Amino acid sequence: AIMSPPHSVTTAAVQQTTKLAQNQMPPKMTPKDYVFGKVIGEGSFSTVYLAMDIHTNKEYAIKVCDKRHIMREKKAKYIKREKEVLHILSSCVKPTAPFFVKLYCTFQDVDRLYFVLSYAKNGELLPHINKVGSFDITCTRFYAGEVLLALEHLHSLGIIHRDLKPENILLDDKMHILITDFGSAKIVSEETEQTNTGEPQARRRNSFVGTAQYVSPELLTDKYASKSADLWALGCLMYQMVAGLPPFRARSEYLIFKKILELDYVFPDGFDQSARDLVEKCLVLEPSKRLGAADVSGYPSIRSHNFFAGLDFESLHKQTPPQIY
Ligand code: ATP
Repeated sequence: AIMSPPHSVTTAAVQQTTKLAQNQMPPKMTPKDYVFGKVIGEGSFSTVYLAMDIHTNKEYAIKVCDKRHIMREKKAKYIKREKEVLHILSSCVKPTAPFFVKLYCTFQDVDRLYFVLSYAKNGELLPHINKVGSFDITCTRFYAGEVLLALEHLHSLGIIHRDLKPENILLDDKMHILITDFGSAKIVSEETEQTNTGEPQARRRNSFVGTAQYVSPELLTDKYASKSADLWALGCLMYQMVAGLPPFRARSEYLIFKKILELDYVFPDGFDQSARDLVEKCLVLEPSKRLGAADVSGYPSIRSHNFFAGLDFESLHKQTPPQIY
């Protein structure tokens, strides 16, 4: 079985969050507590602003969601999920894996919901890969290492991301990763993990908005995903860092899905051998056979793969990330 904490761990995390909300949270903020600056980005029903707390002069990214738009598009469930997961992660920060966007507070007015988030000054990982074409092995090892640590923590809390891709991996001012976009995440209990029959994926219209390239095969066939779906995505991500493009590419989503289900991808010439071996061990159709899927706690079998030789996982968050060329 994949590493999965007792259900109570997740419950405890939720309780802790609630307690925090009741006892320790500062008084409710309002939009007036911030100076709103430039628009950092736009989602399908949200706009993200750079903002400054007028009391502390600290910078944040504030995600503003239009309530009517959310209701019209029936997205309330995803916003709720995102908030719930961000709450858990923000109250259970692991010092050696602080690799998630943090939710500082939320508030609302008549028309909008506001999420005050840590500001990822260096934006998404994707343009950084595209700018240089592909990462060298040192860079790939470093960033794949940070993503692995993030997944170890996320999964130990019983959370599956389910939409891990280079657009959802942001970079802070020091170029460390901050994973975001938990609208598709799932909180699993031990029982669903043990039987490996997680409840069917909620029916989602537009479930593959953006890119279909990181979707795991089991999500396509069985409509559910276990933690191992994130390991598939890790394989896709590593491939993309080394090769410059994701492994499964085609003109349409349908053709991409077909390639995924047939494991139809190739390695370009010169693809690093040990990176290739690790990618091949993540991109395995059967979820339980992926490297790491049988690990009980953390992902020691991935950590100890040759590709990561020499990487000091415990100090990654304190290291200066390698220069991206
Ligand atoms: P969709 O809702 O359509 O799936 P999305 O999840 O990207 O899109 P948002 O979460 O609103 O939508 O983010 C919009 C853009 O703002 C993103 O593309 C991202 O690059 C940027 N962004 C989001 N959060 C932050 C953050 N904390 N720091 C810096 N930039 C961010």
